[in-house]
Amino acid sequence: MTAAPAALLPSLLAGRAGGFRPSPVRDFWEVSMEPDVISLAGGNPDLSVLPLDALADVAARAVARDGLDVLQYGSGTGTAGTREAVARTMAAEGIHVDPAHVQVTAGSQMALDLVVKLLCDPGDVVLAEGPTYVGALGLFAGMQVDVVHVPMDADGIVPTGLEETLVRVRAEGRRVKALYTIPNFNNPSGVTLAAERRPEVVRICRAAGIAVIEDNPYGLLSFDGSSTPSLHALDPDNVIYLGSFSKVVAPGLRVGWAVAPEAVRRPLQLASEATTICPSVLSQALVEQYVLHHDWPSVLDRARKLYATRAAAVLGALAHSAPDGVTWSVPRGGFFTWVSLPEGIDVHRVLDAAIERRVVFVPGSAFHADGGGTRQLRLAYSLEQEDVLADGVRRIMGAIEDIAAT
Ligand code: PMP
Repeated sequence: MTAAPAALLPSLLAGRAGGFRPSPVRDFWEVSMEPDVISLAGGNPDLSVLPLDALADVAARAVARDGLDVLQYGSGTGTAGTREAVARTMAAEGIHVDPAHVQVTAGSQMALDLVVKLLCDPGDVVLAEGPTYVGALGLFAGMQVDVVHVPMDADGIVPTGLEETLVRVRAEGRRVKALYTIPNFNNPSGVTLAAERRPEVVRICRAAGIAVIEDNPYGLLSFDGSSTPSLHALDPDNVIYLGSFSKVVAPGLRVGWAVAPEAVRRPLQLASEATTICPSVLSQALVEQYVLHHDWPSVLDRARKLYATRAAAVLGALAHSAPDGVTWSVPRGGFFTWVSLPEGIDVHRVLDAAIERRVVFVPGSAFHADGGGTRQLRLAYSLEQEDVLADGVRRIMGAIEDIAAT
């Protein structure tokens, strides 16, 4: 048999191949790596809080002592110890789950991928906050799932807006499968869904016969250590919960998880096994030892304080230097604040001017599936030092001022 000519290949690509798009966050990677550039673009956790010696020790012991196990294929659902560590982590936010109900995945991005595979056919609709997580939008687009945004305000999804959106989309003859939501310290808006709205959101979804996908990678990173009751706890039979160690331990480990209602649990396990056979056993060993046997809560506490100080630096710089008409969200945890520009100023012009001033951020349009977000931008404060963040904010505000004056 002769090899197919190179020109044939494009015609062989499946319909969904064209749906995957480059991540706008990664687009800024190169410029943000230039030495004189201040980046408020990427939402990377600051790993300087990690006790590297302890982790190195854990890794060395895992290989030296249990190498034949941690280098072998493992359980498709995840190791018992990791599932226990997940249950312990969720309990720290007041969410109580049976470790046997946990599906460990290679990051929560993979968990979302599996859930979308199981729930959605091409053309199905998923509702999501506007704005929402860019990585979820990329996944939905690749899976040919349409996203319709639900109105939100400073307290998160507006329940009446959710109901109206459901009615409108269904009147168009479209099939809605789920609400995808990041209720705590939303990426990108920094907004938290108010506790009093949560039962209503869950009730509306159940009554409408759609699932809730609760994506909660930042919930443990409230600045004051408090937590808001999870959607999963309010309706465990209709909420698929996604969690991650990426922001609270380390993203390079690629350990996340899903906790799904019973009907979804077995399909989720089989879909996961079809995708990766099993999650990395070595990474799970690190997570398990670190979470169950190290003074992890005190590291987490330091991380919370670090992010709180950085958020304060950004909010303080905004208060001092933002031109009239610029507004922003006030996060109570997580990595982001969401800035709105005055009428008539396009964020892409601001971005070009900001890059000239050697500072980058992600424009709001990256977080919308419907062309929205052209007057908004996301500022990530998780990685740079306070004075650098404040300098970055001042440069961006200077760029806005110049554009407003022209
Ligand atoms: N959901 C949200 C809201 C996120 O911000 C991220 C990471 N940026 C993820 C999911 C993916 O996280 P993980 O590293 O666990 O795949």
